[in-house]
Amino acid sequence: MRILLLGGTMEAKALAERLSRDGVDTLTSLAGRVSAQYEGKVRIGGFGGVAGLVRTITEGAFTVVVDATHPFAARISPNAVSASERAGVPYLRLERPAWMPVAGDDWRSVSDLEEAAAELPAGARAFLAVGAGGVEPFLRRTDVSLTIRVIKTPDTGAHPCAHVVSARGPFQAVDERILWDRHGIDWLVTKNAGGSATLPKLMVARERGVPVIMVDRPRGQPKPDATTVDEAMAIIAHHRSATAFGRKM
Ligand code: NAP
Repeated sequence: MRILLLGGTMEAKALAERLSRDGVDTLTSLAGRVSAQYEGKVRIGGFGGVAGLVRTITEGAFTVVVDATHPFAARISPNAVSASERAGVPYLRLERPAWMPVAGDDWRSVSDLEEAAAELPAGARAFLAVGAGGVEPFLRRTDVSLTIRVIKTPDTGAHPCAHVVSARGPFQAVDERILWDRHGIDWLVTKNAGGSATLPKLMVARERGVPVIMVDRPRGQPKPDATTVDEAMAIIAHHRSATAFGRKM
């Protein structure tokens, strides 16, 4: 078995560690946006679309593609499905579950960042947890205050009230409370990334009655085969000892 692991998430990093520990020949592929230390072999950069990915799979003699990319990485997963089919190797999608609202939450679901920006009322003091690449639609809303937490500082242009906070998760509820008090946050905008690393902001929104504009995951993405690293490892172990896990979409 030779695995091409498409990464860029905490789950991919954990899976690379587990596979390495089990002696499974694995190459992790990263787009180059996130910098993280991965266990085992790593390649960095795009493949050049489906054709390039098919070439990588066949020339590298990979026998399985494991897609553990981010739920909002909308292009690479459909490409990986097509490339796996064309190369004739099984495709496995590992994707963490989306967050679900619970009692006390005030969520407004939107389908994209443009819609999220339009949803903010004039005068809002919004906390944006949408990544540096997601900020642009909000910069046109010069009638709201923006607190933007990102790893990589974006250009906020001439926005009159944009505060950039450079930080990398995980974040605790106490971090959120301090930040939100400092900036008088009364709206939260976030992508439905799921996972625990950035979950406390939703708890703080709930405890304060702060409305949440929740950007839904992109549509038309492959359905997950596994939602945890343990589940993915079990499928891979089964595949190792038996036949393929087939599929897709
Ligand atoms: P995307 O829109 O799906 O991908 C854009 C292009 O980047 C793809 O067409 C592919 O280029 C290349 N690419 C993406 N993931 C790759 C990988 N693991 N290995 C090699 N090339 C890859 O994805 P994105 O939203 O730009 O995100 C890029 C990466 O950052 C993803 O791997 C994702 O897991 C990670 N990430 C994304 C987010 C997010 O919110 N979008 C958050 C955290 C981490 P080619 O077409 O040239 O092959």
